[in-house]
Amino acid sequence: MNYIEKLKLELGEEKVSDSLEHREAFARDESGIPELYLPDVVVHPESTEDVVKIAKIAYEHDVPMTPRGAGTSLSGGPLTVQGGILVVFDRMNHIKEIDSDNLMVITEPGVITQNLQNEVERFGMFYPPDPASLDQCTIGGNVATNAGGPRALKYGVTKHYLLELEVVLPNGEVVRFGKKTKKWVAGYDLPSLMTQSEGTLGFITEITLRLIPLPHYVQTFLVPFDDEVEASKVVSEVIARKILPRALEFIDRSSIDAAREMLPPNIPTDARAILLIELDGREDAVMAEAEEIAEICEKHSAMDIMASMDDRDRERIWQARRDLLHALEETGKIVRIEDITIPRSRIPEAVSKVYEIEKEIGLTLAIFGHAGDGNIHINILHDRGQEKLVDKVVERLCHVAVELDGTITGEHGIGILKKPHLHLEQSDRVISLQRAIKNVFDPKGIMNPGKKLP
Ligand SMILES: Cc1cc2nc3c(=O)[nH]c(=O)nc-3n(C[C@H](O)[C@H](O)[C@H](O)COP(=O)(O)OP(=O)(O)OC[C@H]3O[C@@H](n4cnc5c(N)ncnc54)[C@H](O)[C@@H]3O)c2cc1C
Repeated sequence: MNYIEKLKLELGEEKVSDSLEHREAFARDESGIPELYLPDVVVHPESTEDVVKIAKIAYEHDVPMTPRGAGTSLSGGPLTVQGGILVVFDRMNHIKEIDSDNLMVITEPGVITQNLQNEVERFGMFYPPDPASLDQCTIGGNVATNAGGPRALKYGVTKHYLLELEVVLPNGEVVRFGKKTKKWVAGYDLPSLMTQSEGTLGFITEITLRLIPLPHYVQTFLVPFDDEVEASKVVSEVIARKILPRALEFIDRSSIDAAREMLPPNIPTDARAILLIELDGREDAVMAEAEEIAEICEKHSAMDIMASMDDRDRERIWQARRDLLHALEETGKIVRIEDITIPRSRIPEAVSKVYEIEKEIGLTLAIFGHAGDGNIHINILHDRGQEKLVDKVVERLCHVAVELDGTITGEHGIGILKKPHLHLEQSDRVISLQRAIKNVFDPKGIMNPGKKLP
């Protein structure tokens, strides 16, 4: 009996599909990689026991396995580059327990991030990590990529909320990493190792996250500028003055043009950059910080300072921000999005360098992103046939990041796209140590092969 027949027998035909149509539906992610990576079979487990059965069969037959949440990866992480079994977590989508007494939630990995946030907010609790894909991506994918988002500036990224993980190892063994307690220092920090492992060490099948109280007061501002570099100086200065907004997003001219219809109508037509600034906390503290930020914006010649009127207004602004990538794609161009991250004091330098590269290579580079974290998303707009130029831009951007003391990827991960550049920021020794860790978890090399390490 071959391994696909075994999967069907042990899990039931309704969870296993090797039809071409079904496999094609999972052959891409959001990275824009043009190749179609067809899995040989797609499996939709409904429990940890199902995942154990899949892993045992794959281990016995030496078949590659790739975990997949919602496939919103921007780096090729869930693509089955060596075929084999694609394990899609869309049916393990239940929140198991919301524990208000201990401020935590226990969940299956396939829960959509926004659904988890909405559920815990009903109990007055807050799960801050908010990738811009939050209405599609899964909490399991967020852990596997250590997802961040606009609110990472004040509240940190996914790993800062991890308490305990249940993991199915590539040979089918079930282990638990971490503890449900707020403090825990016994042994190595294996939950952190699983975070951002991009599906290369094992399957994450249960996640316990810590929560915090929901902030009471939130205020959002849109601030247009007629000069991108001046806007980026505001970002550096706000941080240098020790003000910590919950979000501080930068949107440049090309992104504004693409998204103009979604943005409020009163954004000046000659605006070359917008800062989206959000503050939260006690109302009086928010007001005081808002005044200080307004003063910095005015010093850098802001064209206006627009405050959101209410929650609906705020949500409209954020929806426009989250849709920026798709707005750029709707211009008819293909978009490759890069997410270098640099120390925040060096953002003006980075922005200037990006525009130098744009001039030199001749492809439009639209910048938006979590500037408050130094995590700027540079979108390379191009047509089919210009892939070599795109690669050139990516390589230049990775060099800029490392020269400015930053990293080649702040949140999207290495996947397959960034593998050629990892050596720029990590020594051979550091890479070989990580390879050794991978071998301990996955001696047969069947767990999401071809990803993460060069
Ligand atoms: C419009 C848009 C905006 C985005 N904005 C942000 C942002 O602000 N911040 C950010 O960090 N990212 C962002 N992303 C990238 C992406 O959404 C994140 O990386 C997200 O965490 C991926 O979740 P997913 O469920 O889609 O996982 P997938 O894309 O399906 O998988 C991502 C990786 O996780 C692994 N994986 C998935 N589930 C599991 C599991 N249960 N066990 C083990 N491994 C698993 C996969 O093998 C793969 O390597 C954005 C993407 C888009 C399209």
